[in-house]
Amino acid sequence: MEKKNIDWANLGFGYIRTDYRFVSNYKNGAWEEGALTENADVVINECAGVLQYAQTIFEGMKAYTTADGRIVTFRPDLNGERMEQSAARLEMPVFPKEKFVDAVLKTIKANEAYVPPYGSGATLYVRPFMFGSDSVIGVKPSEEYQFRVFTTPVGPYFKGGVKPLTIRVCDFDRAAPRGTGHIKAGLNYAMSLHAIVDAHKQGYDENMYLDAATRTKVEETGGANFLFVTKDGKVVTPKSDSILPSITRRSLVQVAREYLGLEAQEREVYLDELKDFAECGLCGTAAVISPVGKVVDHGREICFSSGMTEMGPVTKKLYETLTGIQMGTIKAPEGWVVEVK
Ligand SMILES: *Cc1c(COP(=O)(O)O)cnc(C)c1O
Repeated sequence: MEKKNIDWANLGFGYIRTDYRFVSNYKNGAWEEGALTENADVVINECAGVLQYAQTIFEGMKAYTTADGRIVTFRPDLNGERMEQSAARLEMPVFPKEKFVDAVLKTIKANEAYVPPYGSGATLYVRPFMFGSDSVIGVKPSEEYQFRVFTTPVGPYFKGGVKPLTIRVCDFDRAAPRGTGHIKAGLNYAMSLHAIVDAHKQGYDENMYLDAATRTKVEETGGANFLFVTKDGKVVTPKSDSILPSITRRSLVQVAREYLGLEAQEREVYLDELKDFAECGLCGTAAVISPVGKVVDHGREICFSSGMTEMGPVTKKLYETLTGIQMGTIKAPEGWVVEVK
């Protein structure tokens, strides 16, 4: 397979059109078989459910080349499962997870020439998504939907080295109790745009959202879950029904327990106890873990002493073990690394 002539090491995180995408339409109560197409454009009616009432959900995953030259993706079954849950919450038809995994693997295979080589740090980002495609003006679910999967090559996340992030405690809320914070829906992102633009203007990298009901507990950022390390080396991650269940975070908790022999707790985390943690990181597909050096709560600075200039020691071990598992240099648990053939 001849790779495309791309400067992998200097790619950013932006959309680059690749050759193929997968499309399946839902009509008259059933999904059609679906197929790969070269057409990157979507043509829908002006009154489509997605355009009027934001009926849309998505997933994010990556394909990459392992140390021994295989093209693989990470735990796609969990993305398929999560998309089923997102669909159910927005009254969209479920695209079955087995068909989801099949569509993802087919799309990656078709765009093999865009999967960055091992060692480049770059990956092929995979974006499955679904939206209401027929016209609805009265508020109700669409009757027709489109499911698509496209890919785009993205550059190394830690370009020019790891720089710990500075984040602020945000005055806006991300998700309501009993709302939609736990599903991967565009609507959760649309409402976060103002908060993130404002955070950047004020010089912060990210927003730390608190629980909307009491504003005393840590939830997550706009697109990544938190992971903390206590001073005695325990891994702690916030538990809440309005946090998006990150596959990276769930995998890291398992890595902490089973590979590193660390105690890992999923529990409520209070803003007041941040000062007691030694390390803080953000977990998601893109970075695996990005270290947080400092949280600013209305002028009060909370610094994670072992993570101000580089990754803290436990964060680093977690990062190296999970990326080793992903890249095939450390033995993976059954089913985590799925080869694209
Ligand atoms: C996608 C996402 C994450 C990270 O999930 P991964 O499965 O690890 O990529 C975290 N928080 C939010 C709000 C997200 O949308």
